[in-house]
Amino acid sequence: MNIVIMGVQGSGKGTQAKKLAELKGWKHVNLGQLFRIEMTEGTDTGKRAKQYITSGELVPDEITFEIFKHATEEAGRSMILDGFPRTPAQAEYLLKHYSIDLVIVLDLKESEAVERISARRNCSSCGRDYNVLFKKPQKEGICDVCGGTLVTRADDKPQGVQRRIDIYQEQANKLLDFFQGKVKITKIDASQGINEIFSELVKEVDTLQ
Ligand code: AMP
Repeated sequence: MNIVIMGVQGSGKGTQAKKLAELKGWKHVNLGQLFRIEMTEGTDTGKRAKQYITSGELVPDEITFEIFKHATEEAGRSMILDGFPRTPAQAEYLLKHYSIDLVIVLDLKESEAVERISARRNCSSCGRDYNVLFKKPQKEGICDVCGGTLVTRADDKPQGVQRRIDIYQEQANKLLDFFQGKVKITKIDASQGINEIFSELVKEVDTLQ
């Protein structure tokens, strides 16, 4: 079983994908995170992708396909795809090479997305994520787990956020047009709480199994 999860930044797609992968024992393929790991490790791919990521632009397809292919090589395991595809060309590549059972869209108003992303923080040491609105650390600015300093990701700063949201809005409709009639698409209201969204998501997935 392979599922695509889509949603504007801040809709909670990463959180939901991670929970689903844990519950079902699936592989969570998170493209943004894979790119960030490559950048932190200073690999060749990381160096090639960095300029696009820090300015909130999409990384060119030739680099993205490379990293996606590498991440999905492990055969026979169900996957939840988070952050891929993001363009019709990527969707076309996906349907040509993989079978996709469901596309989940987490629906969220743009104003709410901006508010949620502005509240995101990450530990500069272990990478753990926080949100000063919904998932506060016990001590302000400090990671609960490793004591590292919490920072705002470079692309979560206002200019980067707006650019990424604009790109998402532009691409999402094109992607959905492409998937229409080829794959089942289900929308979930992402203004709900994490647990409510998750129970709807699991219900949808269970209807397929
Ligand atoms: P995210 O954490 O999902 O918001 O992704 C962070 C950044 O990684 C994006 O703003 C892009 O620069 C890059 N990225 C992630 N997924 C893709 C993709 N499918 N295609 C191109 N660039 C991507």
